[in-house]
Amino acid sequence: MRQNLILLGPPGAGKGTQAKMLVDKYAIPQISTGDILREAVKSGTPLGIEANSHMSRGALVPDEVVIGIVKERLKRGDCGKGYILDGFPRTIAQADALFSYLNECGCPITEVIDIKVPKDHLVIRLSGRRVCRSCGAGYHIEFNPSKDGGRCDRCGGELFQRDDDREDVVIKRFETYEAQTTPLSEYYKKKGQLTTISGIGDVEAIFDDICKIVDER
Ligand code: ADP
Ligand code: AMP
Repeated sequence: MRQNLILLGPPGAGKGTQAKMLVDKYAIPQISTGDILREAVKSGTPLGIEANSHMSRGALVPDEVVIGIVKERLKRGDCGKGYILDGFPRTIAQADALFSYLNECGCPITEVIDIKVPKDHLVIRLSGRRVCRSCGAGYHIEFNPSKDGGRCDRCGGELFQRDDDREDVVIKRFETYEAQTTPLSEYYKKKGQLTTISGIGDVEAIFDDICKIVDER
């Protein structure tokens, strides 16, 4: 069955962690707008230069830019059996654009999972998050450390801290999330597509909760 999934939740909720596990289980791609934008920043493209001016201060990249990126990405052949949207949509305008686009294709979203984590946990998660520069694998200095601390267990790549995981930007990202993204829970609840789960506890247990929801839908 086709799975067109959305993972909602604040920065640090575990969307990326869970999305990567869902990729393996359902053999569908993770579409992380944050990853796509960071790649553009790294390459120094005009898109990356524009995106960075927003990302570096914890603001959202303009809707039309992100909507265009996602529409292009959804056209790729690997989305034929579904996908996991991680970090998109983040505004009502993005959700409306996605809804219209998928309606035209006749393949709507099948499930929206809203991962709830209290802010004090989020701060600890984001300050300790480390990411592999080569393969993008995610770690946490305390909750999921790599074996040698500075290198990726999977590929040996260097682990780094995202610029926007520094404290001043994190505070702004939370404000942005509260103001612009929290209304999406109500939006998808009204459509009957939302399931809320706790994102606290063992990563595997949270993954089991998500799989049950996806399989039962
Ligand atoms: P998001 O994609 O929602 O911003 P991530 O998946 O990158 O969040 O997770 C943020 C940080 O929290 C990472 O360092 C990750 O290793 C860690 N993390 C993810 N899930 C859990 C969990 N259930 N318990 C503790 N730490 C977690
Ligand atoms: P993330 O990796 O999901 O935490 O996103 C990192 C940053 O990328 C965000 O703080 C935004 O600046 C930008 N970004 C990612 N996804 C979106 C989106 N859907 N809309 C606007 N900006 C986004």
